Amino acid sequence: MNANFQRWLQQSIEELKAQNLYKQPPVLESPQGGRVKIGGRWLINLASNNYLGLANDPRVVQAAIDAAQKWGAGAGAVRWLGGTNELYEQLEQKLAEFKKTEAVLVFQSGHNANSGTIPACFGEGDVIISDELNHASIIDGVRLSNAKYKKSEGYVYQHKDMNHLEDILKRCGDFRKRLIVTDGVFSMDGDIAPLPEIVALAEKYDAVVMVDDAHASGVLGEHGSGTTSHFGLYGRVDIQLGTLSKALGVIGGYIAGSRLLKEWLINRARPYLFSTALPPAAIGALLKTVEILMTDPEPMRRLWDNARYWKENLQRLGFDTMGSETPITPVFCGDEAIAQRMEVRLREEGVFTLGIVYPTVPRGKARVRTMPNATHTREDLDEALGAFEKVGKELGIIGRWV
Ligand SMILES: *Cc1c(COP(=O)(O)O)cnc(C)c1O
Repeated sequence: MNANFQRWLQQSIEELKAQNLYKQPPVLESPQGGRVKIGGRWLINLASNNYLGLANDPRVVQAAIDAAQKWGAGAGAVRWLGGTNELYEQLEQKLAEFKKTEAVLVFQSGHNANSGTIPACFGEGDVIISDELNHASIIDGVRLSNAKYKKSEGYVYQHKDMNHLEDILKRCGDFRKRLIVTDGVFSMDGDIAPLPEIVALAEKYDAVVMVDDAHASGVLGEHGSGTTSHFGLYGRVDIQLGTLSKALGVIGGYIAGSRLLKEWLINRARPYLFSTALPPAAIGALLKTVEILMTDPEPMRRLWDNARYWKENLQRLGFDTMGSETPITPVFCGDEAIAQRMEVRLREEGVFTLGIVYPTVPRGKARVRTMPNATHTREDLDEALGAFEKVGKELGIIGRWV
């Protein structure tokens, strides 16, 4: 082993620890649910993206078992090389109905859908204009393209600032293609992109719109089909990304759009071309979760009931939940050390949340991110509120911003 490299690793890790930026994943001893077992204790789980409780829904688990028994454990190859399992075809058709788009292409993850689609569609001679708070996987996709995109060159607009976006668009007339890309629901703040304004600007300046609905899938719009539906913008958003890994409870991501877009991606998106397909169990489970979403409004109703209750009560206690409009509820701490201390103290008080620090959010904007979901009972939420009140007072967070 290279000694210099090992020393560099050691030093870099120590720097992270000194700056309170060090992370270690907690080990779960139970399935996902309203409570999870960590270190032998059952904690109220406010850390998961399992919005609708589908990750451990018995109907979904059974569908996974059935698909594995019928089709085996693995896909065997990338789709175009080894052949596409017919379950994939069924899932893509069902998702296209769900999204009301011509076509859908499923990827192995939301990250892959971003990092595959953006560089496949935008390159030399094009420009990509981004919201400054876009998710890391959008940024990774953007960086893989040969388009102009850099913040230092003026192609990143201030968060949801439509005047700034328009200023940039005015300068971009000479590019071959223009892409505006945004999160639908911002993953660390829980606010919603002003999609109607973005679409109007795109139409005015001949730009393509891509929206990443990772956190809007299963949460906003008809049956949880996302921000395009939420705002009634059917047919006006060129590229919609959805995840199958958050509210949909399993794994994967997809792109919804025109038939031509799908055809192009099948030929040019590198994760599709060079990475093995999802296992049949995942696809079988997903067919069930999409069916549940399209026929049963109950999980979404419970999610929003809990989200409203949670947010109202945190605010009543004097916490700053930032600009959140969705179940994603950040509790602002500011300082990295306070966010990390809050996470530890909450865990001791029986609540599982994660402190979110740089580089996931900007320095000085550390927070504890909480995610109430459809599986929580009122007792769960009340108990968690009690813990927040106690720890918030202890750390001097309550009331600092009101
Ligand atoms: C989580 C997330 C992704 C990545 O989705 P995975 O399926 O987990 O890879 C992409 N975009 C946004 C906005 C996300 O929050």
